[in-house]
Amino acid sequence: MRKSRQREAILRVLRSTRSHPTAEWIYEEVRREIPNISLGTVYRNLRLLKEHGDILELEQAGTFRRFDGNASNHYHFRCEGCGRVFDIDEPVVSGIDERIEKKTGFRVSHHRLEFRGLCRECLTDGREKN
Ligand code: ZN
Ligand code: MN
Repeated sequence: MRKSRQREAILRVLRSTRSHPTAEWIYEEVRREIPNISLGTVYRNLRLLKEHGDILELEQAGTFRRFDGNASNHYHFRCEGCGRVFDIDEPVVSGIDERIEKKTGFRVSHHRLEFRGLCRECLTDGREKN
């Protein structure tokens, strides 16, 4: 992939956070550095980076698409209260891809795992309201 200043800025912004931001958030951050960049350019470069394996796009069940500067497989927790996505520091289950291949005859390239529930802050808020 040809180098581009815009794409490098997008990647830098995305890798500077662990918040799994939306394209709009990335756009606002990159604009501080490149004020004339367009949202369409940000979207296009996010797609290129994803296709190139440099970033992940999180499954878009529900709300906004979110992006992750860490392209290696790791697990996430999505809070059903506030919508935030957290990295889960847990080793990736090994051998499961092969097991599924044996069972199904399919070719597995990778797996994704996302836990759902309420984050600590949402749990605390809930307790205060009750
Ligand atoms: Zn929450
Ligand atoms: Mn992540």
